[in-house]
Amino acid sequence: MTDPETSINASDATEAIVQSSRRITPESTDEVRQIVLRLNSPADYFLEGQNIGVLTPGPHPYGNKTHHRYYTLANAGKSADGEGIELELLVRRCFYIDEVSGEQYPGEASNYLCDAQPGDKVSITGPHNSPFRIPTDPTSNLLMLGTGTGIAPFRAFLRQVYQAHADWTGKVRLFYGARTGAELLYMNDLNNDLAHYYDQSTFQAIQSLGKSVLKDAGDALLSGVDAHAEEIWTLLQAPKTHVYLAGLRKIATAFDASMAKLAGSDAQWQTLKQSLIDEQRWSELTYH
Ligand SMILES: Cc1cc2nc3c(=O)[nH]c(=O)nc-3n(C[C@H](O)[C@H](O)[C@H](O)COP(=O)(O)OP(=O)(O)OC[C@H]3O[C@@H](n4cnc5c(N)ncnc54)[C@H](O)[C@@H]3O)c2cc1C
Repeated sequence: MTDPETSINASDATEAIVQSSRRITPESTDEVRQIVLRLNSPADYFLEGQNIGVLTPGPHPYGNKTHHRYYTLANAGKSADGEGIELELLVRRCFYIDEVSGEQYPGEASNYLCDAQPGDKVSITGPHNSPFRIPTDPTSNLLMLGTGTGIAPFRAFLRQVYQAHADWTGKVRLFYGARTGAELLYMNDLNNDLAHYYDQSTFQAIQSLGKSVLKDAGDALLSGVDAHAEEIWTLLQAPKTHVYLAGLRKIATAFDASMAKLAGSDAQWQTLKQSLIDEQRWSELTYH
């Protein structure tokens, strides 16, 4: 059985068990849950930053045979009992508005995952590799822009960069937008997760930005981008800068608008962006 959109074979799926699920955002904002899945006898090696696919049980709307969606591994490691592995996801509960009826519908996979209880079984595929590649030259600059659950691939990516190159000398800048301070997820949540993973000097290389009064995480990200526009613009002109975008698709559009202002026109920005894409210095992991 093949998913027409993703060419995923349902027969390749593995069974995982929900170990825990907890909401990490306040009730007043979008629901994001930290969900830990356990695999008892994994056939593959899973690494944070890779993606897994989740297949939801049918029946699916419009007669689709499968519904398969990707989720980034925020963490992957041995379970406490040493007998299995645990895969940690950050999942935002999605809804969409049907343009014809105007009604709001729950996204299938995200609601399935957010509703799952400890002990429930989930069909997963993968691991699937991340589109983010570490440049071989440690003097390269890394410009990362993300919102919401987009922090998961960056967290893993940053860790891999510094594990592979303790002597990284290029500038590393992470611009991360959230609607409220509390929504900063792993940048600022109770676990202070980044501080666990990076030493002080590495942590100082990261700039996180969030504004509490702004409309959404994309706006917050852009206010940070605007506040550092000159530095970003200088970085974008540098031949060794790589750009990474992660999170909601609309941030890519909003970032385009912001850069078009700096470039003087949309056409000029598109020319620069195209050269980054052509030189494989532009990577996106964006979704609805
Ligand atoms: C590589 C990768 C990694 C990802 N990592 C994460 C992650 O770590 N965390 C996370 O929360 N998400 C992540 N995502 C997004 C995730 O895969 C899903 O896209 C998201 O959870 C929504 O899936 P869903 O099944 O809940 O919603 P769906 O049911 O697929 O609906 C989502 C969107 O589909 C459209 N849509 C579907 N049906 C209709 C319809 N009838 N009418 C109109 N529009 C419709 C809408 O635009 C809607 O916004 C990732 C995506 C990719 C590609």
